[in-house]
This record gives sequence, C-alpha cells and structure tokens, in this order.
Amino acid sequence: MRTDHDLIIIGHGLAGGVLAATAVNRGMRVRVFDAPKSGQASRVAAGIVNPIVLRRMVPSWRAAEMLVCAEAFFKTPHWHPIPMVRIFGNAQEENYWIRSEADEQAAPFLSREQRVDVDRADIDRGIGYGIVNRCAWLDVNAWLDEQRTALIHSNHFREEWISKEDIVEHADHAMAKGESASFVVLCEGPFTAVPGLVPARGELLTVRIPGLGLKTMIHRGAFLLPLGDDLYRVGSTFAWDDLFVGPTEEGKQVLLERLLKITRLPVELIEHAAGVRPAARDRRPIMGLVGGGSRIAVLNGFGSRGVLLTPWGSAHLLDHLLLGQELDPEVNAARFSV
Ligand SMILES: Cc1cc2nc3c(=O)[nH]c(=O)nc-3n(C[C@H](O)[C@H](O)[C@H](O)COP(=O)(O)OP(=O)(O)OC[C@H]3O[C@@H](n4cnc5c(N)ncnc54)[C@H](O)[C@@H]3O)c2cc1C
Repeated sequence: MRTDHDLIIIGHGLAGGVLAATAVNRGMRVRVFDAPKSGQASRVAAGIVNPIVLRRMVPSWRAAEMLVCAEAFFKTPHWHPIPMVRIFGNAQEENYWIRSEADEQAAPFLSREQRVDVDRADIDRGIGYGIVNRCAWLDVNAWLDEQRTALIHSNHFREEWISKEDIVEHADHAMAKGESASFVVLCEGPFTAVPGLVPARGELLTVRIPGLGLKTMIHRGAFLLPLGDDLYRVGSTFAWDDLFVGPTEEGKQVLLERLLKITRLPVELIEHAAGVRPAARDRRPIMGLVGGGSRIAVLNGFGSRGVLLTPWGSAHLLDHLLLGQELDPEVNAARFSV
C-alpha cells in the first residue's frame, strides 16, 4: 500500500525531534504531531552532556559511543563544547575521582589542569577539583524551534494532541488522525504509561550573577552552567511524587542552597522552571514495537540524558524498523514485559 508518510511521529520533544531529523536525513517522508504540554522535559532541560556521572563519578552508559553520535548529530550554533569542573567537597569525593582516573573507560574524559576562571576567591573550590572533558551544552529550545519551523515550512508538522483512539494499526500500515504511514512512533516522553518508565520531576533556575565570569560548568551537588551575559542555569532537583505540580518553593530553596556551596556572590533569580524526565527503571532508553503488532513503536526512556542518547537511539530504532536489524536487548521495550 502507498502510505501518506513513511513515519508518523507523536511528540516533538528531543526524542521525536531527533527521530524526525534523522528520518528526514535518510530521505523519509515524516509527519509529526505535537501539542505542547506543561511538564514537557525537553523545553526545560538544561541541555548538558556529561559523560561522567553520579556521586561516584563513573562513565554514563556507553558514554564514548553515545558521545560520538551526539557530537556528529548536533551542530553549531546550538552545540557548545564546554568542560565541567567537578569540585570535591570532601576526601571521599576526591577518592572517587582518583579511582576513576585509574579506570580505562573513565580516564580519557578526566584531567586535572588549573582553570583561571575557577581559581578565584569568590568560588568555593572545596578541597580541590578535577575537569571532565568532552562535555557540552545544547541549546535545546533553539534546536527544537529550528526543527519545528523547518517541519512546519515543509508541511510535515501538525500541532494536535493524539489520543489512543486516534491511532489505528493495520497489518501493513498504521493510521493517525486519518493519515497513513508505514510506522507510527510514540515519542510521548512522560505523558504516557510505557512499561519500565519511572518519570522524575526536576526543577532548575536561571540566575544572573554579575562578575562571576565563568567559562566552564561547575558541578558541586548542583551544576552551574554559564549561558553568557552573566546568566547561569542552576540545576537540578529530583522528585518522584506530584510529577506535574510545576516549580515549587522547596525546589527553589534547595537549588539556591546548593548554589551557595559554589559561590556567595549576589544572585538575581530570573526564571524558575520544572519538567518531568521520562526516566526508565534501569536508566536505559526504551524502544521497539509495542502492542503486539508490527506498525506501532515507542521511543522513550531518555531520562536525564536526552541530548546524549537520542541521536544513537533514533538511528538504532530506524535501523530496526526499516532494515530489520536486531534491537540491542539493553534498550528493547520488551525487557519490561517479560
Ligand atoms: C529539570 C530537567 C533538567 C534536565 N536536564 C537535562 C540535561 O541537562 N541534559 C539532558 O540531556 N537531559 C536533561 N533532561 C532530560 C531531557 O529533558 C529528556 O531526556 C528529554 O527531553 C526527553 O525528551 P522526550 O521527547 O522523550 O520528552 P518531552 O520533551 O517531554 O517531549 C514529549 C513531547 O510530546 C508531546 N506529546 C506527548 N504525548 C502526545 C500526544 N499524545 N499527542 C501530541 N503530543 C504529545 C508533549 O507535549 C511534548 O511536547 C532534563 C530534564 C529535566 C526535567
């Protein structure tokens, strides 16, 4: 059957946006449906890419491989390489760092040189710091806006909410709102109930700190990301209850207190935002066919690492749907239904 599109994508956050761009780059005909909703993850995400994570400072899942894909996919002017300074608050944190320096997966990302923008009296450097290299910041909103505008101009975008009843699956195609495609891919982020998804609310602040003059990100309990013009992003919190309540006073206070551990310079609050991360129970993406048929798939579970993981994830899912390549069992949605 000749379908209207090769791919219908439901949702235009990072998952749907990167999938759409990957499909268009492969010459596919796409239709994207998206209706903005309060709590969407990508529109509040800090956009940080950091291959060394957690208190123990270990490499994130397949960090080196995912970085190569993300670096090749996102381009200037939205992609900004920027190192991250990891401040050690105590000896245990420094020991985690020393252990990582001896780890062959982590070591290529780590260095110890001094940074003149950090070695200043108005920054509390704890008992020392290390530098995580190959970090980056993606201006997610600017990237999504550019993609969305391009899709609208080429008549590939409809701003509409799609309910379950709007999607009908057939043997050789699927329909959404009366349009047909070889596949429908659900990129609904936290607004759905995919097995294995454990969404987590997060809050972050945009602040002005005149005179701080940072050129790197700093991480000490919270991250501080320089945006230019004395503006910084500070984040982020994690909570698993009241997912869609929006920004809270408690979240704001937590972040301001963590910021005090980095600098005591005067801070002007510019913006306070909240969103819901579509996190998976095992911190891996969730993708593949769902519902027992062969035409409806899901692409979700990007958690706190949408920027790092969506380029690889989108390419991997398309290779599976179109070329019949096996899904990596670590990301196959079926792992949560056995
Ligand atoms: C506070 C916070 C900080 C973060 N910081 C970072 C960071 O620094 N680096 C990083 O890589 N990641 C970060 N993340 C995580 C990142 O935001 C997510 O991994 C990523 O945005 C997930 O994208 P998504 O497309 O799956 O979901 P979303 O961005 O939520 O997109 C889903 C979209 O689909 C739409 N939609 C859903 N269902 C339907 C439907 N049925 N019909 C029509 N439209 C629909 C929604 O309205 C929305 O626009 C952060 C998240 C939060 C909350």
